[in-house]
Amino acid sequence: MITFVPEPRLLDSPRGREWPVLPGETGAPAGNPPHTADVVVVGAGPAGLAVASALWHHGIHDVVLADRTGRPCRRFFARVDRLGQRVLRSPYEHHPGVEGYRDCELLDFARLHWGLLTPVERREIRMAQAGHRSVVPVDVFDAYCRHLATSHHVTGKTWRGVVREILPTADAVTVRADRFGVTARCVVLCLGEERKDAPEHWWGGGFPPPSVSYWDQKLPAYGERLVVVGAGLTAAHLIGNALAAGKQVHWVVREPGERYQCADVNSTFFRPEGRARFDGVDWDDRLGLMSRYRRASIMFEFRPALERAEAEGRLVVHRGEAITKVAPGAGGTAVLRLESGGRVTGDHVVLALGTTPSIGTGLLPGELVGARDGWPELDGRTMAYARAPRVFVVGAAAGMVLGPAARNIDGHRVATARVAAAVAESVRREARRTEFAPVQEKAGARG
Ligand SMILES: Cc1cc2nc3c(=O)[nH]c(=O)nc-3n(C[C@H](O)[C@H](O)[C@H](O)COP(=O)(O)OP(=O)(O)OC[C@H]3O[C@@H](n4cnc5c(N)ncnc54)[C@H](O)[C@@H]3O)c2cc1C
Repeated sequence: MITFVPEPRLLDSPRGREWPVLPGETGAPAGNPPHTADVVVVGAGPAGLAVASALWHHGIHDVVLADRTGRPCRRFFARVDRLGQRVLRSPYEHHPGVEGYRDCELLDFARLHWGLLTPVERREIRMAQAGHRSVVPVDVFDAYCRHLATSHHVTGKTWRGVVREILPTADAVTVRADRFGVTARCVVLCLGEERKDAPEHWWGGGFPPPSVSYWDQKLPAYGERLVVVGAGLTAAHLIGNALAAGKQVHWVVREPGERYQCADVNSTFFRPEGRARFDGVDWDDRLGLMSRYRRASIMFEFRPALERAEAEGRLVVHRGEAITKVAPGAGGTAVLRLESGGRVTGDHVVLALGTTPSIGTGLLPGELVGARDGWPELDGRTMAYARAPRVFVVGAAAGMVLGPAARNIDGHRVATARVAAAVAESVRREARRTEFAPVQEKAGARG
């Protein structure tokens, strides 16, 4: 049997290096976008970037991207940096670049910048070239996303705006944001996932009590003991950072034990045979697969450090413990009450409870989303909403079509290939129709 030997030092790539900038790198556009476009992409994260780059190769250049943050991939890197995450959870072959066209992929980009990489990072590139699992520095991925956004003219087409409403008609779709409105032939929703909040019974809903925060919020200065709740990689990062700062950590995990694996989801789901398990399969069977495989896990590389900290008593793990209540404690602490009757007290508590896919609810009319068990009703071939064929989805919301990998960068690649082809075909068909319409009208008038 082959045993995977994790190396904690793989997690320590430097962040914030200076990368050569592609000539012609543009800033964010000024003013408001045009009132009409061929395509609007809502959300400019890795998924939106992948879609806009692929459309560029299809010759669809009249594209508007609307994003709450106003810059490609800003939320993704803000979240990653909030956790101090230095390497991606996914290997080199998972990237938002375009396949099937002559283009620079993530591995090509890293090799082009060999001179900027550390020996450990170079060795990971060799691993990737040899077809093995590899660890990608966040810094390389960040520079690559900027390269993609510049070389496919995405940055200059990304406007800051919070989209509030999407109204499809038979011929077009109108996207209404807080600052502007655009009517397009097609719209692609790349909304990503929102943080999962605590159940209402923990403290009665609303904002968390003092000394309790969520993983994507700034961690305030706290005393000696941090309590981390959650079983995934986000929790592992928070624990790793606190241990490195010399703090004592209590870790509350609802599952009987933590799970270590190479990537967020089982690697078979990144391959056609894994995705085939979702193709044309009964809804309940897909739901079952989802609940079995879309579970929190931690990269193998964390294991030695966490196990050592536990053995030394710097980390106390409360396994198989469900929280029933969270309340303020004495002296500004927070207290977690557990179903087992136990209590865990900390100077601060961070909740890393996962994320929920944004499926278009609240933007599209509810009957068009067709939400069932938290998933939209999609046409699996084109990734369009079954009841709004001009509106497409790339990202986590495509989970019931592509399986658990839909929420990862590699799933965006698969969805993007389908969506870009369908959108390009639709835009061209309509361009032909409007081009021929006057001719037909003239012919009609002659007849
Ligand atoms: C900390 C962290 C690390 C991760 N690391 C990896 C990894 O290494 N590899 C991997 O494959 N996956 C990773 N993931 C999963 C990851 O979230 C996805 O792969 C990727 O970010 C999803 O891209 P996205 O474009 O779908 O979503 P996002 O990056 O979240 O982008 C969605 C964008 O849409 C915007 N938006 C949403 N609603 C609206 C609206 N109404 N109006 C305007 N804008 C809107 C958001 O502001 C955001 O900018 C990670 C997730 C987290 C949280």
